[in-house]
This record gives sequence, structure tokens and C-alpha cells, in this order.
Amino acid sequence: MPLSEFALIDRYFRAVGVRADVRNGVGDDGAVLVPPPGEDLVAVVDTLVEGVHFPPASDPASIGHRALAVNLSDVAAMGATPAWALLALTLPRANESWLAAFARGFGDLARAHDVQLVGGDTTSGPLSITVQVLGFVPRGEALLRTGGRAGDSVFVTGTPGDAACGLSLLQGRESGRGSPPAMLEALRRRFLFPQPRSGIGVQLRGIASACIDVSDGLAGDLAKLAQAGGCGAEIDVALLPLSDALRACAGEDAAEQYALTGGEDYELCFTVPPARLGALRGWPCTAIGHLVEAPGVRLRRGHNVIEFSHSGFDHFGG
Ligand code: ADP
Ligand code: MG
Repeated sequence: MPLSEFALIDRYFRAVGVRADVRNGVGDDGAVLVPPPGEDLVAVVDTLVEGVHFPPASDPASIGHRALAVNLSDVAAMGATPAWALLALTLPRANESWLAAFARGFGDLARAHDVQLVGGDTTSGPLSITVQVLGFVPRGEALLRTGGRAGDSVFVTGTPGDAACGLSLLQGRESGRGSPPAMLEALRRRFLFPQPRSGIGVQLRGIASACIDVSDGLAGDLAKLAQAGGCGAEIDVALLPLSDALRACAGEDAAEQYALTGGEDYELCFTVPPARLGALRGWPCTAIGHLVEAPGVRLRRGHNVIEFSHSGFDHFGG
């Protein structure tokens, strides 16, 4: 017998995460939530569509994880602490094993970040998942894209490019031949189960002048951050923190390309004024360049300027 909508919600979504600041969660017409006094509310929403944001027939645990992770990454980029999530789920059919795995992927990440699922909507149609997350930040302290100024250093967390290479492996566009299987698996997992940088986002309050999460590729997202601050940026590609796995799988040149244009990393890219650089010692982030007055993003390798396009880059001068 097909699962009724009520039974489906009750079985898979009623008890995801538990927080004391939820007066009324899943089950009523609306959720009743108690925001902490004196804090600003931060609201984000993102949609994943099958075939657009993840390959058809992807692991449902990964879909559930990513649907929440992309939102937690946006919250982290605002310097905020996530609290509540809403889930609008459109499903072609109520397949129990798919739902169980999806709810596990979503729920494990929600519990790990102390997020409670407080409501949503369930409809039938082509597979699509929309998640909204609400979080808090002390009044006036949210990290905006607009605060970067020429002279600020540009940082990125983690090792960008891994997730895009992992997606290429999953889609057969990258063979991975000759690379250790454990490295290939690590790259695939970076796409399937990205870990949002919640801890660092919160710690960056009062230190970073601007912050963005890397969803569309480091170069493009940095361009957005720089433009929002009315400046440009310069990256030294020799400083890019490429993982050993990415280098082994893709080779040095393609590894740089993945890191600059690949997307799906959900790392944070942020800027720090010179006077506050000391605060970052020991953090899992790497300085890769500077904001500059002239608009646009330029690439250097040491002293050489590199011309950059989305299909590759050429050296022209030294
Ligand atoms: P209504 O018709 O009043 O919108 P629904 O039957 O759609 O109510 O939903 C019943 C309850 O279940 C509501 O509290 C809603 O927020 C919640 N809900 C529905 N779908 C989901 C879902 N996919 N995840 C979490 N909560 C859900
Ligand atoms: Mg409804």
C-alpha cells in the first residue's frame, strides 16, 4: 500500500533534530519558534533539482545531506549559527527505501549542526528539494560580501577543486586511472557529502571584512565578493591549496582549473584587513591573494600574469 502523505511526514520528518527554542515543530499549520533576544535572524534558501544540481539516480543519502549542506554553507558565510530548517520536497513517488536514506542523510547533518527540522511541504512531481534554514547572529555582526577593501588579504578554507573533480569522476568525465582508489573515493565524497564550514564562519565575525561561500567556483565567487566591495582581486595560483588527491587524479594544470572554476566546494572565501591577520594563525585556511583597486579578478603565478578563461589559461608575459 502506498505511504500516505501524513504517514510519510510522520515517519521520516517529524523528529529530525531537537531544540529547546522550538515551541511547535512539524505537525501544525506553521512552526512556532523563539529567536534569542537581541540577535539578528539570518534566512537562506536553496533548491536542488535532479539533473541540474545532482546527477539523476544519485545516492539519496547524499541528496538529503547536500540539500541541507548548501544552506548551512550560506549560513556559515554570513557568520551565523544555524537553528531551524524547513524542507519542501517534490517526489515522483513515495519510495520507502529512498525516503529512509534521504532522511538519514538530511538528519545526520542536521543533528551534527544542532539544527531542527520544523516544517515543510510534500508534493508529487519531478524530484526537487528546497530547504530553508534560519539562524542567528549577534545584532549587526553578520559577515557581508560588501566589506572588502583594496589591500585586504584573500583566504580560502580547505582544498577547493576536490568536489568538482569528484563530480567529474562520478560522471565519467575524469577516469582517475592510475590514482589510488582511496583518493578517488575521497574526491567523490567531497562532492556527495560536503561539510559546511559552520565553525569557521562564526569565528570570522569581527575578523573578516567580507565573506562568501564557494558554490560556483573560487574565481567567480571571489569576483562577486570583490565587486560587492567596489574593488577587484588578484590570486597567485601558486598559492592555491590543492589536495594531493586532486593533483594525483587530475594533474597539476587541471587541478588548478578545478580549484578556480569547479564549484560545489562549499568552502569559505573571505578577506581580512592587514591589522587583523594575526587572528588567523592555526586555522585551516590559506592566503591566496589580495583585493586591489582595479575591478575584476586577475591571476598571477609568482610574478607572471596569467590570462584566464573558463576553458583554460595562457601565459602572456613575465
Ligand atoms: P498544510 O496542508 O497545513 O500545509 P501539510 O499536510 O502540508 O499541512 O503538512 C503537515 C505538517 O507537516 C506541517 O507542519 C508541515 O510543516 C509538515 N511537513 C510537511 N512536509 C514536510 C517535510 N517534507 N518535512 C518536514 N515537515 C513537513
Ligand atoms: Mg502544506
